[in-house]
Amino acid sequence: MKSTNSNNRSREENNGHTVTSAGSEHEAGNDGTLQSSQLMQLFLTELKDIYWAEHALATAFPKMIESVTSQELVAVLTYHLTETAAQIGRLEEVFKSIGKPVSGLKCAAMEGLLKEAETIMEDCKKGAMLDAGIIVAAQKIEHYEIASYGSLRQFAVTLGLDEAASLFEITLDEEKAANDRLTSIAVESVNPEASEKEII
Ligand code: FE
Ligand code: FE
Ligand code: ZN
Ligand code: FE
Repeated sequence: MKSTNSNNRSREENNGHTVTSAGSEHEAGNDGTLQSSQLMQLFLTELKDIYWAEHALATAFPKMIESVTSQELVAVLTYHLTETAAQIGRLEEVFKSIGKPVSGLKCAAMEGLLKEAETIMEDCKKGAMLDAGIIVAAQKIEHYEIASYGSLRQFAVTLGLDEAASLFEITLDEEKAANDRLTSIAVESVNPEASEKEII
């Protein structure tokens, strides 16, 4: 890890305030100080993690969509698959905006969440039960994404990466909306239907 003390000092000389003051006052590290900060390193790691995770999700989603019965659920998942493609594009824009090459880093959490979705598809009876199970799996995924994008947006704000912060904000709103739509389907139709069906 690089010494941040000397970086802080040179930043103070260049910009007249320190890196420990409120994040919004900072420029995007043109002098290289924020670029080499510990937060910047963590930001990059998390960015690569979610980039990998979104790709894994885009690959796994079609099978999940095929497995469900509720047409409403098919529609919501299909719509979110389209959004996921745009989110991947937005992440590539973030890499570009900070002058870093696009790359992914295996996300152990997403791998585990997708394994859970696989197990649900194997174990649940097709119909309302499987639909309810896929909603659980998808909502766990959305929550993971909400946590990831919320943190990345906040990191970007502190680092003065305004373009990245706005891009994360758009995606964060999409993830929250997807989660809310899944809640509605579960509450209004899928869960009550599954509660009326006996295990045979
Ligand atoms: Fe996403
Ligand atoms: Fe991860
Ligand atoms: Zn994710
Ligand atoms: Fe999502």
